[in-house]
Amino acid sequence: MARILVTGGAGYIGSHTMVELLAAGHDVVCLDNFSNSSPEAVKRVQEIAGREVRLFTGDIRDRSLLDSLFHAVKVDAVIHFAALKAVGESVAKPLAYYENNVAGTLTLLEAMRAAHVMRIVFSSSATVYGNPDKLPITEDAPVRPFNPYGQTKAMVEQILRDWCVAEPGAAAVALRYFNPVGAHPSGRIGEDPADIPNNLFPFITQVAIGKRERLSVFGNDWPTVDGTGVRDYLHVVDLALGHVKALDWLARDHGFVAINLGTGQGTSVLEMVHAFESATGAKVPHTIVARRPGDIAACWADASLAHRLLHWQATRSLEDLCASGWRWQQANPEGYRTV
Ligand code: NAD
Ligand code: UDP
Repeated sequence: MARILVTGGAGYIGSHTMVELLAAGHDVVCLDNFSNSSPEAVKRVQEIAGREVRLFTGDIRDRSLLDSLFHAVKVDAVIHFAALKAVGESVAKPLAYYENNVAGTLTLLEAMRAAHVMRIVFSSSATVYGNPDKLPITEDAPVRPFNPYGQTKAMVEQILRDWCVAEPGAAAVALRYFNPVGAHPSGRIGEDPADIPNNLFPFITQVAIGKRERLSVFGNDWPTVDGTGVRDYLHVVDLALGHVKALDWLARDHGFVAINLGTGQGTSVLEMVHAFESATGAKVPHTIVARRPGDIAACWADASLAHRLLHWQATRSLEDLCASGWRWQQANPEGYRTV
């Protein structure tokens, strides 16, 4: 059992990962500036797990805060979620994205090095592949993101790769997530978009509950099974468990590795709408509209490296992820703001 610093632990994926870390017996320290989350999420994580999280409120770019954190608690490894993540916003505000995601990670790594903490799991993204040449996507596919958000992920991967060469004891796993959706089965924690959701799944749950009138389906002329975009939707609890497995890898190996976390299955927008309706009984009115700029037709993972190296695979079904996301949406129509 280890003590893990989770940056961005109050966020969507971080909160689910903290639950699984606590369940696996790890001690959890959370650092979050709450720029896109609520302290209520940390409270609920503790309630689900029946264990305490040690919370530091602050920013990964604050070196003196990091130094005092590492001085106050002996940390064995870091799981680094803290980042800005909206693709469109990253095009409009690239400097804010490079500052937070890249410069922030450099500050974190410098503080880790000073405190002799040499293991890190990093939240990367399938967006680093840009528009893939072939499917399913393997980790040796070219890295060529086409927006500043994706660039920040590719840059941090490169920094970690170089860091692991320079520091003999260093170990880093970059997990390239495909499309995490759904919520904890308790319905107590879940995705809580601050604004109009950009992503398909939270938009569907908001239409189903009546917060939005209808879903716009971005194009039905893609070269896919039914003309709508295809993605690899992964249950957030499966994703969280992938982080626990990545920590096990860090404890027995060193160097840098990038690993896809996905199910290996593609689902189209219309397939997702129908799966959601049949899993929940709710209706999702939708209209076909023009393609969204910057979209790609299809993207799904070859998840065999995760199986081989981490002994991880996604086990939760599309039905599970629809039902859990709906449970969270119904119980928390305004997200954490209802409290
Ligand atoms: P999120 O916004 O819910 O969580 C990120 C958390 O980091 C938030 O709690 C936010 O307050 C915090 N944070 C941001 N900047 C910070 C800073 N400078 N200092 C301290 N805390 C800070 O996002 P999420 O969906 O949970 O994503 C977590 C990570 O996974 C991110 O790095 C994201 O880029 C990556 N990722 C997410 C997805 C996805 O679809 N959700 C897909 C691929 C990769
Ligand atoms: N999508 C859609 N309507 C929406 C949001 C998304 O049709 O309101 C489509 C989008 O074009 C893509 C798929 O749903 O084909 C997944 O989009 P999302 O933004 O969730 O993930 P990403 O494109 O970043 O993988």
